[in-house]
Amino acid sequence: MAEALPSGLVDAVREVLGERARPGEPLARHTSYRIGGPAGLLVLPDTPAELASILEAAAARGARVTLVGGGSNVLVGDGGLAGVVVKLGRGFARVEWTENGAHAEVRAGAAVQLGRLCRDAVGRGLAGLEFAEGIPGTVGGAVFMNAGAYGGDLSRTVVEVEGLRAEGGAPLRLGGAELAFGYRRALLPAGFVVTAVRFRLERDDAGRVRARMDAAREHRVTAQPHGEPSAGSVFKNPPGDHAGRLIEVAGLKGVRAGRARISERHANFIVNEGGARAEDVKALMDMAQRVVWERNGVWLEPEVRLIGSW
Ligand SMILES: Cc1cc2nc3c(=O)[nH]c(=O)nc-3n(C[C@H](O)[C@H](O)[C@H](O)COP(=O)(O)OP(=O)(O)OC[C@H]3O[C@@H](n4cnc5c(N)ncnc54)[C@H](O)[C@@H]3O)c2cc1C
Repeated sequence: MAEALPSGLVDAVREVLGERARPGEPLARHTSYRIGGPAGLLVLPDTPAELASILEAAAARGARVTLVGGGSNVLVGDGGLAGVVVKLGRGFARVEWTENGAHAEVRAGAAVQLGRLCRDAVGRGLAGLEFAEGIPGTVGGAVFMNAGAYGGDLSRTVVEVEGLRAEGGAPLRLGGAELAFGYRRALLPAGFVVTAVRFRLERDDAGRVRARMDAAREHRVTAQPHGEPSAGSVFKNPPGDHAGRLIEVAGLKGVRAGRARISERHANFIVNEGGARAEDVKALMDMAQRVVWERNGVWLEPEVRLIGSW
């Protein structure tokens, strides 16, 4: 069970958010894995002002703050996640388009679903996000992770990120170049909460843009498991190789721990067969790391973020 919250914090936050402040909320309801113990306090702010007041209240009482977007790249421990867990609410799911000639700019709230943004852009004949079809989660999480697939990633289109600093909730804007995007990472100030992102997209032939998105979807449907909860690729690809290939040649496809299993379809996916615990998934991750290290001398680095108590 998560450690106790600082006194007065729940009341202070409840005063601002009412029922959108939920002590002890099971995080399994908020992760694509359907795994995770309780949050100390889950909050769903709808405006930057609400968010700032939560950050202030937490900082004043020394409570830890963790951000969760769509929960599609996190494995939350069975013991839950202490402190305040912020999940941006519907007020952060607005999209504004500014189209002029060959280019367009779109400002998307951090809680917008990345897949929805990709499909809206494709519908307008705008190129730059087609790779994102089928990547679950939010724009905020996608920037943090520099989400990518099939040769594309978010870094190429991000112009600016808007957000609030962890300490006290002061607003801050960062240019795309300042984020020093790398493979599945961006350099954001510690605890920085992304509230909106401005993208620049290019006009292209509408049919060609759609064909690229359809190809990405097709590839995903063929190569990846579906119907069982997961967090996508568990490990990053090591330089010059694929984590899935290394795990497959190690003979680990189909191996189980509790109710978790290394997918037969794609060895870099660990799926929840129903009722899996975080420790089951973690046991398979540890096994894959150890076996691949012993066979190939490659240490697989997790892509999925392990958070909370174990
Ligand atoms: C079936 C499946 C397929 C997938 N395929 C891909 C793929 O092809 N490519 C790929 O890159 N990923 C893939 N993923 C992983 C995942 O979808 C992406 O990493 C996604 O961008 C995570 O977004 P999220 O909103 O769910 O973030 P979360 O998982 O909620 O959070 C991820 C990290 O971002 C931080 N974060 C979230 N929101 C914010 C915010 N507003 N401000 C600051 N930090 C924030 C969190 O604290 C956390 O550290 C896949 C996942 C699944 C389940």
